[in-house]
Amino acid sequence: MSELPPAHRTHEVTNQAPPLEGYNIFAQDRVLVDALEREGAGWARERCARLGEIAGGEPFQWGALANAHTPVLRTHDRYGNRIDEVEYHPAWHSLMRLAVEHELHALPWREPRPGAHVARAALFFIQSQAEAGHGCPISMTYSSVPALRAQPEIAAEWEPRITSNQYDPRALPAPQKRGVLCGMAMTEKQGGSDVRANTTRAQALSGRGPGAEYALTGHKWFCSAPMCDVFLTLAYTDNGLSCFLLPRWLPDGTRNRFHIQRLKDKLGNKSNASSEIEYDGAWARMVGEEGHGVRTIIEMVNHTRLDCVIGSSSGMRQAVSQAVHHAAYRSAFGRRLIEQPLMQNVLADLCIESEAATTVMMRLARAYDDAEVSGNRHFSRLATAVIKYWVCKRQPPLVAEALECLGGNGFVEESILPRLYREAPVNGVWEGSGNVICLDVLRAMGREPESVEAFFDEVDLARGSDARLDRFVDGVRKELTNFDAIETRARHLVERLALALQASLLVRHGDPVVADAFCASRLAGAHGLAFGTLPAGIDFTHIIDRARPQV
Ligand SMILES: Cc1cc2nc3c(=O)[nH]c(=O)nc-3n(C[C@H](O)[C@H](O)[C@H](O)COP(=O)(O)OP(=O)(O)OC[C@H]3O[C@@H](n4cnc5c(N)ncnc54)[C@H](O)[C@@H]3O)c2cc1C
Repeated sequence: MSELPPAHRTHEVTNQAPPLEGYNIFAQDRVLVDALEREGAGWARERCARLGEIAGGEPFQWGALANAHTPVLRTHDRYGNRIDEVEYHPAWHSLMRLAVEHELHALPWREPRPGAHVARAALFFIQSQAEAGHGCPISMTYSSVPALRAQPEIAAEWEPRITSNQYDPRALPAPQKRGVLCGMAMTEKQGGSDVRANTTRAQALSGRGPGAEYALTGHKWFCSAPMCDVFLTLAYTDNGLSCFLLPRWLPDGTRNRFHIQRLKDKLGNKSNASSEIEYDGAWARMVGEEGHGVRTIIEMVNHTRLDCVIGSSSGMRQAVSQAVHHAAYRSAFGRRLIEQPLMQNVLADLCIESEAATTVMMRLARAYDDAEVSGNRHFSRLATAVIKYWVCKRQPPLVAEALECLGGNGFVEESILPRLYREAPVNGVWEGSGNVICLDVLRAMGREPESVEAFFDEVDLARGSDARLDRFVDGVRKELTNFDAIETRARHLVERLALALQASLLVRHGDPVVADAFCASRLAGAHGLAFGTLPAGIDFTHIIDRARPQV
């Protein structure tokens, strides 16, 4: 009888790219490295390189595990006592621990110095590439601090816990923990963007007004990371919508009446639990002025909007890294993909978009540093909304295109692209969905004309450097003087504001080939509707090489 050949004899595995892993996410990102220096955080170079090295390794596996083994709600213990806890896979805790130990949740508050927000933005950008879901509680915790400071005695109690660099996931009263996390609960069933439609009521328990104790009754339709130790939330008193701090545990060490009804079954962001909750007379303290809850919590919202920009830029960067890496190894029709003219066009176009996003995200982060020093928030006020809209809007089509660069492999979980793809739309929804943000831009321009001037002051720093940019900016300024159907035109207007700022930054600080291609395609109309429609004659190889992680 003839012998059967061993199974491996059927074929040899060839022409598959090696996995993109074990690389330094920071050191291999020229755009990020340059921007860190330029925007005033050169002092954080070593920290970023350290996290870049770690995050480029095992955290990718943690990310896969934390998204495959999703959080589970435990409403009761085995004796029937209500506990309202969520169990996470150990990989989630590893990601959280790494983030907290590297101060992604608190660096500017622990170390207030010029460039602190920029340094933190870079760190958040680096780690989110390995896994994005855990960025949600990290971002909310970071963002809670400026809102909490509206109530100094509450801030004095909670800020040291929130800014601790120890991750402590135990379900215990805050005073017994080594560090805590803070969430945000605003959205109700009948109104998310329009929080004025909220129905949750706050009843005074002792005294009234800022710092006083209240009992909250009502619900929240979206409350992410419900295992946070404390939340900032909104509820109505007789004097209007107010902001409250609501801890999971009461001062006497018993559980607060904060009940998790169920966890959402979401498109993406799977590692992170998002819940529906009820307040059944839950104990809370008022933060900031009674009736001015939106004004108080908006401080938190502004910082989470910045993080939406960082998160989207980060998702784009990882998708582009994967696409370029794959194309460098994979051959079709006798040539590597990276050498095929049409694939070069697609890859270069993606690289340009990602480079523009990273560059503007770092400039925006510096605006937060500048505002803390000068107290002048005009630029950050308008730029945050403009850039939040545009960078989040670009992420889904970019990731879809990057996925396609991997062909069928891109559609398979192990490639990480499906995870990046499912994650891509969420930043657009969070913290003001597209239209709401565009209307906010109009509001900022109407109420704070100084913000428009500050925005154009920055854009105009590139005046005279590129005729296409000058013409484009003149056109946008003209558009701003026309108030006809301004709401209907808001998306178009905001998009053009964002492009003007991105172009200005690239022309001044970016790679000249990238800046030129950006202006030709995004400002001067030499571009189609899909990626990969750059005009011929651009040095695609140069643009792609800049973005390619060397492993
Ligand atoms: C994964 C996930 C986690 C979340 N976690 C939290 C959380 O932790 N805490 C929390 O408070 N919320 C959370 N949210 C809720 C989120 O912030 C809201 O879904 C979001 O703000 C939109 O509100 P909404 O769902 O009520 O939609 P709506 O407000 O009903 O908006 C629906 C659509 O209408 C548009 N729209 C609204 N008003 C106008 C207008 N005037 N003109 C034109 N268009 C308009 C919006 O842009 C949007 O596209 C989470 C959401 C998701 C998906």
